[in-house]
Amino acid sequence: MKHYQFLNTKRAEPSKLGAELRVNNHNEIYESYDQSEASEQAERCLDCGIPYCKWDCPVSNNIPEWLNLISEGKLIAAAELSHQTNSFPEICGRVCPQDRLCEGACTLNDGFGAITIGSIEKFITDMAFNMGWQPTVKKKIDETKLVSIIGAGPAGLACADFLSREGIKAVVYDRYEEIGGLLSYGIPNFKLEKDIVKKRREVLENMGVEFRLRTNVGVDIQFEEILYNSSAVFLALGTYKSLEGNLNIEKDCTDILLSLNYLIDRIQPIINNERKTSIESLEGQDVLILGGGDTAMDCSRTAIREKAKSVKVIYRRDFENSPGSRKEKENAIEEGIEFIWNSQVKKLNYTGNRLVSVTTVKTSLEKDPHSSRLTPKELEGSEEEIKADKVIIAYGFAPQLPEWVNKNNIKRDENDRVLVTSSDSENAYRTSNSKIFAGGDMVRGSDLVVTAIYEGREAAKSIAKYLHSSSFQN
Ligand SMILES: Cc1cc2nc3c(=O)[nH]c(=O)nc-3n(C[C@H](O)[C@H](O)[C@H](O)COP(=O)(O)OP(=O)(O)OC[C@H]3O[C@@H](n4cnc5c(N)ncnc54)[C@H](O)[C@@H]3O)c2cc1C
Ligand code: SF4
Repeated sequence: MKHYQFLNTKRAEPSKLGAELRVNNHNEIYESYDQSEASEQAERCLDCGIPYCKWDCPVSNNIPEWLNLISEGKLIAAAELSHQTNSFPEICGRVCPQDRLCEGACTLNDGFGAITIGSIEKFITDMAFNMGWQPTVKKKIDETKLVSIIGAGPAGLACADFLSREGIKAVVYDRYEEIGGLLSYGIPNFKLEKDIVKKRREVLENMGVEFRLRTNVGVDIQFEEILYNSSAVFLALGTYKSLEGNLNIEKDCTDILLSLNYLIDRIQPIINNERKTSIESLEGQDVLILGGGDTAMDCSRTAIREKAKSVKVIYRRDFENSPGSRKEKENAIEEGIEFIWNSQVKKLNYTGNRLVSVTTVKTSLEKDPHSSRLTPKELEGSEEEIKADKVIIAYGFAPQLPEWVNKNNIKRDENDRVLVTSSDSENAYRTSNSKIFAGGDMVRGSDLVVTAIYEGREAAKSIAKYLHSSSFQN
């Protein structure tokens, strides 16, 4: 690598479609690098010797090493290396909040512009797949030991990916008709096109992973039957209980939407190639989104794509202190979404069963000795009324565990998160039932795709160790 290349070459993201064009459809907004652009950007790496980028990447990607391979044009070697630590690099490259993780930690971030790690990571696997490359599976699948995985989101899929490379049979159950969990039924197409997830399904199936889709465990098949027929089980059910704040929601008012119901309703037709939706169009309406995270950004940018008259996001902290990724907040602003920072909704106002407005109150941010984050405090006498035809609540999610979790001696904490042994213990990610492991959002609370992948992989390592140990009896 040319060590001072960053002085001559500026950080350059792949080109992005202009906001006025991209709001006319739901396609991804970023183009891809070509080989020479990717090499040029990779060559900017200083190879500083202290890979802060790797340390701040939850899956500890070997970033400087694959940047070096790309700068030398060794694409397949980069793809092989990239897959040693990350099960789905093309997905993380698209959806990780890089500004808070790898790129935020890059030495060049201080004045020169971080290496575009996410875009290069995406380029490597996209290109390798285009060239017909598949991840290497070194061992033949041994059908005598079977691990059942419940949940085909990133945690479940990463566990299946790791196990199949170890030669262990993985069968993945999901209630939806397509794999991906929130990758398919949450994150909109303009951030992650659904064909990318479908390609991964093909790759995993070629590696020997078996999917049993449209199968709601506990309804279509009993959990106990799966448990009895498996050597071990990995649970990765995610978090699906929408938090609603303490708002006065009229149950028969159709103007109040929950974020995930809305997003799934708009994504399903894209997955199934059809036009049918159940939630009425937001075209011409004044829409308010409550919340400041990735889900709020996704709802606001979906609403603007269906020609809402106005879209405002209301959040109780400011731009810097809101949880959404910087890149996505900036994309939302470019697309015409208005942000009302330091403000929160106190009351929803109705005429009959139709929503007409919301009452908000201003907040100020104060230091809290019990928290690392600034805490919003309401300012007395700062109430304001804002007209709204529709409100979308995006306050986050908590686990919604099925009855069979209780029945099978799986302990949970006071927030309904499943309790597991710590990641550095002998049998990491094991629940209080020794044959059952768990990971992803249902264990750590709603978080990120890359942390779910990390937990799926770590749990798989632990399961593999358990299956090879003397305490295992099939
Ligand atoms: C709208 C939205 C946008 C987001 N954007 C980003 C982003 O840009 N970047 C990022 O890093 N993170 C983002 N996240 C967070 C990220 O998607 C999650 O942290 C991640 O998907 C969690 O993975 P998981 O495998 O634990 O669970 P999930 O992805 O939720 O998958 C769980 C799966 O379990 C299945 N399941 C549950 N119960 C059963 C049952 N009884 N039987 C069968 N199947 C069952 C579900 O159908 C689902 O497919 C976003 C989240 C949301 C909601
Ligand atoms: S997985 Fe995410 S945090 Fe890690 S290098 Fe890739 S984009 Fe960065």
